[in-house]
Amino acid sequence: AEAKASRSIVILGATGSIGQSTAAIISGAKGAFTVAAVAGGRDPQALAKVARELGASFAALADPAGYKDLKEALSGTGIEAAAGPDSVVEAALHPSDMVMGAIAGTAGVAPTYAALSAGRTVALANKECLVCAGPAFMRQAAAMGTRLLPVDSEHNAIFQAMNDANLDSIEMITLTASGGPFRTWTAEEIAKATPEQALNHPNWSMGPKITVDSAGLMNKGLEVIEAHYLFGIEAARLDVLVHPQSVVHGLVHFTDGSVTAGMAAPDMKVPIAHCLSYPERINTAARRLDLAGVGSLTFERPDFERFPALRVALDALRAGQGLPTILNAANEIAVEAFLDKRISFHAIARLVEQACEQAQADGIARDPESVTEALEMDQLIRERTRASLAKGNVATLH
Ligand code: NAD
Ligand code: MG
Repeated sequence: AEAKASRSIVILGATGSIGQSTAAIISGAKGAFTVAAVAGGRDPQALAKVARELGASFAALADPAGYKDLKEALSGTGIEAAAGPDSVVEAALHPSDMVMGAIAGTAGVAPTYAALSAGRTVALANKECLVCAGPAFMRQAAAMGTRLLPVDSEHNAIFQAMNDANLDSIEMITLTASGGPFRTWTAEEIAKATPEQALNHPNWSMGPKITVDSAGLMNKGLEVIEAHYLFGIEAARLDVLVHPQSVVHGLVHFTDGSVTAGMAAPDMKVPIAHCLSYPERINTAARRLDLAGVGSLTFERPDFERFPALRVALDALRAGQGLPTILNAANEIAVEAFLDKRISFHAIARLVEQACEQAQADGIARDPESVTEALEMDQLIRERTRASLAKGNVATLH
């Protein structure tokens, strides 16, 4: 039989949680993939390690201060080293068949959009791309005739369950949420939660920002916004159910009453492998689903009182006017401040809601027409949110 050509991959965010799982899938699928380039944020040693292991030809570090260390760590390997934000875009544009977008936060918007604009198929983990600049990303994907493959487990499950069905045949889409570490906590307990407690997720091991987002259900709010743009389905047809076992990741409800569930063990290697090999399937060592072992699957309605961040995010989606972009920017600053122990847990949602309300009151809330406009809005909201943090309104923030 003729050997199949291997698929070449660029990994943006190669040193992170999704990046490392991607590397593990690639290493385990001998010969199916080659790695063209890898990019990371600030850790030159970790980036050099993954670049060597995967045999990449180009390694880009966002932090320019790490250039010397990266170059040294790659000397004699033939792997080209580069540093600075432009080099991350260069990595994204390195010739490849697919780009894994796994940078955390809005830092991923520019390089991921560059890859999409160059016509690359993008496997998208970096949901902030769509929350910040969803319409521009979807327009560009359509214009280039390329597909955005969802890596986020809920969206991947829904994508598989939809199976390219006509949107008219879909009544509703449900995203499930594990409920996070505070699912059974009282509002008072949640308000005072520490970073250590928020970072202790029951079902998933992920980077710090998404783990904090998950603890307050802000992550689910970001995901509903992501689903809205990705699938082109309005907010009213998107639902959230809390499902602590994280076995059913998404549900597609058809107009005839049929419901298709996307299921898998809670292991990101499953959706990552699905995207990397799409539309084929590969063998992986990802965790297998053992339903008898799980025993029972339970579902409950989300509690908007104890988890106001979900309400704030859904309100932003319904309001439009660029509020998803604003929410995303304010949230990144708020999560950073919480992790630095400058604000309490419940201040995250308050700060984000305040940023949305003030932007509307000041007449600056409007839909960005391009990625450039979205990133300008993002910068402006970051500055405004930092300024209101600096004013230190203690009653709101602690
Ligand atoms: P992480 O913090 O573990 O990793 C982030 C990666 O991005 C690291 O490699 C870091 O070095 C890199 N990075 C940061 N700034 C960069 C920059 N300016 N340029 C280039 N690289 C940069 O985060 P993660 O958990 O892997 O999440 C990545 C993305 O995937 C996030 O958007 C997250 O919401 C999404 N996601 C993650 C999971 C998960 O299970 N971890 C699940 C679904 C979606
Ligand atoms: Mg998810």
